[in-house]
Amino acid sequence: CGIVAYIGPRQASPFLINGLKLLEYRGYDSAGIAVLNGDLKVFKRKGKVAELEAFIEGQDHSSTVGLGHTRWATHGEPTDINAHPHRSGNGRLVMVHNGIIENYGSLKTALQKEGHVFESQTDTEVLVHLIEEIQDHGNLPLEEAVRLALDRVVGAYAIVLMDREHPDKLVAARKASPLVIGVGDDEYFLASDAAPLAGHTKRIIYMNDEEIAVVHRNGDLQIKNIHNKVQTPFIQEFDMQ
Ligand code: GLU
Repeated sequence: CGIVAYIGPRQASPFLINGLKLLEYRGYDSAGIAVLNGDLKVFKRKGKVAELEAFIEGQDHSSTVGLGHTRWATHGEPTDINAHPHRSGNGRLVMVHNGIIENYGSLKTALQKEGHVFESQTDTEVLVHLIEEIQDHGNLPLEEAVRLALDRVVGAYAIVLMDREHPDKLVAARKASPLVIGVGDDEYFLASDAAPLAGHTKRIIYMNDEEIAVVHRNGDLQIKNIHNKVQTPFIQEFDMQ
């Protein structure tokens, strides 16, 4: 029910864990983070953010890019395996998702015919496998694969993805579930609402429905809509008082 992500010069996990705590009020049953430091590492647990925090303590979660999630289960019981983030079948992508993919059943059947094997009961895992399939098949940039996959989705989503082959960017999208982009100095913060951004940046972009954003470590930001039209980001000054 909550999403956070970070890319920039600093360590990601303190922002991710604190951000998830600030989104706790939205309600949740499990929590997880993923970081990328050579390889993708996923840490996820049923239960409270404090339990996730204790779980990652003493493990190597150093990374200057990462994403996190608190889950309010809709498809699949609250378990460690159903908790987000979810990986694609080839292990290259990792994704967090808020919302519901209503047509996940037919998408899952089609993907299973292509040889995809699923480890969770979630609708979310189906979407990240679909994105992988489109990315692999057309050798496409992640953001283009995301766009084409979302064009086949019925439902509500806020999603953020990392690609092991491209550690210098994050891809995010939303429809009917909130997602904001905090713009820092050569760093970006993504979150379900502005609360986790407090103390980090006052510059905020409220993503619109059916927009796909790419944020780069070098400060670049691109937003397109699902029809592949470039959108001009509208940065608002957010007053924390
Ligand atoms: N539908 C997804 C799931 O059940 C996401 C739920 C959420 O918004 O947290 O895993």
